Amino acid sequence: MLMLSVFTLHVKAQQHQCAIAKQGSSKRSLLAKAATIGQQQLMSQYDVTFHHLKLNVERNSTIISGSVRTIAKVTASGLDTFGVELHRQLIVDSMVLGNGSKPTVNRDNDFAFMILPNSLTTGQAIDVTIYYHGDAAVKASAAIGQGFSTGVSGRWGNEATWSLSQPYSAYEWWPCKQSLQDKIDSVFVDVTTSNENKVGSQGLLKAVVSLPNNKVRYEWKSFYPIDYYLISVAVAKYVEYKTYARIGGDSIFIQDYIYDNPQTLITFKPVLDQTAKMLEAFSEHFGMYPFATEKYGHAMAPFSGGMEHQTMTSIGVIDFGIVAHELGHQWFGDHVTCKTWKDIWLNEGFATYTEYLAAEWLKLGTQAQEMTDNHSRIMQAPGGSVWVADTTSVSRIFDSRLSYAKGGAFVHILRFEVNNDSLFFAFLRQYQQQFAYATANTVEFKTLLEQMTGKDFTQVFNQWFYGEGYPTFDVKWNQVNDTLYLKSKQTTSSVATPLFVTPVELLVKRSIGDTIIRVNQQQNDQLFKIPLKGAATFVQLDPNNWIINQATVLKDININGTNELGLAQINFRYYPNPASSTITIESVSQPIQSAQITDITGKQILTSINSVIDIASLQQGIYILTIKTVDGRTSAGKLLIKN
Ligand SMILES: [Zn+2]
Repeated sequence: MLMLSVFTLHVKAQQHQCAIAKQGSSKRSLLAKAATIGQQQLMSQYDVTFHHLKLNVERNSTIISGSVRTIAKVTASGLDTFGVELHRQLIVDSMVLGNGSKPTVNRDNDFAFMILPNSLTTGQAIDVTIYYHGDAAVKASAAIGQGFSTGVSGRWGNEATWSLSQPYSAYEWWPCKQSLQDKIDSVFVDVTTSNENKVGSQGLLKAVVSLPNNKVRYEWKSFYPIDYYLISVAVAKYVEYKTYARIGGDSIFIQDYIYDNPQTLITFKPVLDQTAKMLEAFSEHFGMYPFATEKYGHAMAPFSGGMEHQTMTSIGVIDFGIVAHELGHQWFGDHVTCKTWKDIWLNEGFATYTEYLAAEWLKLGTQAQEMTDNHSRIMQAPGGSVWVADTTSVSRIFDSRLSYAKGGAFVHILRFEVNNDSLFFAFLRQYQQQFAYATANTVEFKTLLEQMTGKDFTQVFNQWFYGEGYPTFDVKWNQVNDTLYLKSKQTTSSVATPLFVTPVELLVKRSIGDTIIRVNQQQNDQLFKIPLKGAATFVQLDPNNWIINQATVLKDININGTNELGLAQINFRYYPNPASSTITIESVSQPIQSAQITDITGKQILTSINSVIDIASLQQGIYILTIKTVDGRTSAGKLLIKN
């Protein structure tokens, strides 16, 4: 989901030089709806396998009527009550079991339930059709607006009725179980409407059935697992625009529903035509488009952003960034969904980063500016973590600075830390494969990242993800003969994270050509001695905007290696620490000749010339690791062994 804030509107307008119509302002209530614990517990006793929505919807009204059939498998013994979430404003006409019986319908605020004639046991199927009607314009609790809305496009004048259920608003327009971890195996959506309208929804359009009284029924069927909040309808007078992406021998259908207005398609065609190229590039890097046998597409609706409804994004503003963002969600959000809303960055951080990647892969050349804007946005406040501690606040879950901008910047940092693009994207493909059509949380993501890269990312997550703020580097440099001295002093914006141990790139402009040097800052104050031929004329920190930071870099002739005693002379790092089986040593500035481990009394325990050292035989305790580089310098650090 992407809501255009005033900030992003401003930036996008600057970037794309286009006017963007913003439809009113989004109202976001502070408290999110969730079923009571007891109701959630009741619903956790069944696993939804199928929904069939049969609805009547018009393009200028939030009045809704129809039925939703639910087939579920019982997952606990003795299920005697079946219930679903449905807003109290919607009236249940009946609940009908598969055998035709109609138990009494009970309501408990936003919950509708019935006592089953016979209690069911694990593995049994339950088949219930709920008939209901009412006005679904109930409140504003979705991430953008409310669950079910109708409106008129300010720019085009077209009417539309559309749903937007993320995170907890599906129950405002259809009876459902709002559980991220219970994906529905397949879903059919039939909508009856006036015959000048079209209806966009999930999967493939299997039939358009003409009905009496100038009505028509759109019948959509999808056979891919789907989360409750990704089921949608969009109803308006649309024209259909078709393109195809080509991947290997396959072609993937892209079906856009654009306002039936002489200027709308002409205006957006150049951007819509980029969708196929994006889909091809994303498939190459993330793995095949997850819904390839069905389709992808957009259905326009008058809200200020986009929403990644599975196989058919609802979209209010069509520009390159939003199209990329919502398409990216088909992998990060729809195919692999965040397991809890605390893990929303796995949806939104990645979708934000796919805007950057699309610009990189389609060679727009705007990605550097995009990351600069992202970083500026993040640094508007000194603190805040990507991690969402409070999921009762919809505005915190979808905080554009933290879940989007910082989430996206964090993915960029992970790519920098991995420092190997083919490995990084292989990891993303593996993540997509391992959690395909299911959900993942942050710990599962990190575990797989560590398995794939062989590196410990605990510190990286503690600093940039769970931690807060950003580092400011005050760098002074000087060159003496063939040595570049860099004195880097790091302060941070938040006491929550007093130090960011991080690789840092430095661009050095010099007489014999520019070069990029990568150092690892491991202390707040650190001196780097870097062999460098050619006269340096200028040094810039983080020229590729890998990390969120502010920096000043100045030449200072007092920095010459003799005035900075006590600072680390060699730039090296080792991990994991604590360690139990092996440690890996890396040096950036100079190759390592040997490493030595001594205990705290100074007694030598082992020496090695390898960069990976087996320490499994060491007793638990504190040791000193001393390394010697090929140019004869030594440096030491503390090593903790834990068995
Ligand atoms: Zn999004």
